[in-house]
Amino acid sequence: MVDLRSDTVTRPTPEMRQAMAYAEVGDDVFGDDPTVLRLEARAAEMFGHEAALFAPSGTMANQIALQLQVPSGGELLAGADAHVVTYELGAAAALGGISTRTWPSVGADIDVDQIAAMIRPAGYPSVPTRALAVEQTHNLGGGTVVPLPVLRALREVSEKAGVGLHCDGARIWHAAVADGVPLSAYGELFDTLSVCLSKGLGAPAGSLIIGSRENMARARVLRKRLGGGMRQVGILAAAGLHALENHIDRLADDHARARRLAEALAPYGVVDPAAVRTNIVLLDLSKTTLDAPSLTARAAEQGVLISPMLPSIARIITHLDVDDAGVDRAIDVLGGVLGSA
Ligand SMILES: *Cc1c(COP(=O)(O)O)cnc(C)c1O
Repeated sequence: MVDLRSDTVTRPTPEMRQAMAYAEVGDDVFGDDPTVLRLEARAAEMFGHEAALFAPSGTMANQIALQLQVPSGGELLAGADAHVVTYELGAAAALGGISTRTWPSVGADIDVDQIAAMIRPAGYPSVPTRALAVEQTHNLGGGTVVPLPVLRALREVSEKAGVGLHCDGARIWHAAVADGVPLSAYGELFDTLSVCLSKGLGAPAGSLIIGSRENMARARVLRKRLGGGMRQVGILAAAGLHALENHIDRLADDHARARRLAEALAPYGVVDPAAVRTNIVLLDLSKTTLDAPSLTARAAEQGVLISPMLPSIARIITHLDVDDAGVDRAIDVLGGVLGSA
């Protein structure tokens, strides 16, 4: 089996399991788990912020950050295809009382002037905009990277308008590696970030919220309210620390493999390899006789797993558990199905 459905399918490496087995632990709801504290301090330092807070999932990390920045009844602006809009099952509204308005998503492209024009200030009879959220890398955009100068321009807009700026950085590591940007250069632009340890970095679970000491103190309360307070969770934090130390630089290999896959499948007219910047390859099947579920089913029969994201869009993600031989196998199988269609 070659599993390219998501970078969440990675299993802990033997070295990571070793780190987990011997992790020092305590009750993290009491703030007593030394390994969690080390992970939080390390992540805060990497992004140039004061503090961080461990959370069980990226969705919870995002929702805590949104609740920190947008009071109930306030407005969030985000891209229409953003994870916080599309894949968190309405949590901002259901749990935070947050009203969301969207700008059109075109990959990771962000029209800063358009966003600036959408912000509604307080003091009028409209819902006031309280925060903006951007996604780095952009999942439904195909793992695309928002360039640093665009993010800087967005920061200027948010400061001028007095609204918060959140980064859904589930795959921000991939952006940093692809563009050669230090994590701290991203960190300084955002009031809050959420980052994921269990995708490309290979930990079994866990995300972090990153921000000011004051906001992280408030975030602890929100996390407990959402049922995300965990006890001897240093076992998971040890996996996260191991991932931060050992699994970031190697993402360049995943990016090269994704690019190689895209180059091999480009002759079937389903992907432009130049659009592949990180570890995600979107196949656009609209000019073929196949739809995404049928390509997925036929590839699965031959042991290659991919994800149907939309009726005519299938997604391939490279990760820690897929090597060059796996990519060769995927190229053979997907090329075979596309070629016979
Ligand atoms: C996966 C992901 C998340 C968080 O997902 P969880 O499954 O809740 O950990 C958030 N944002 C993006 C862009 C993601 O891809």
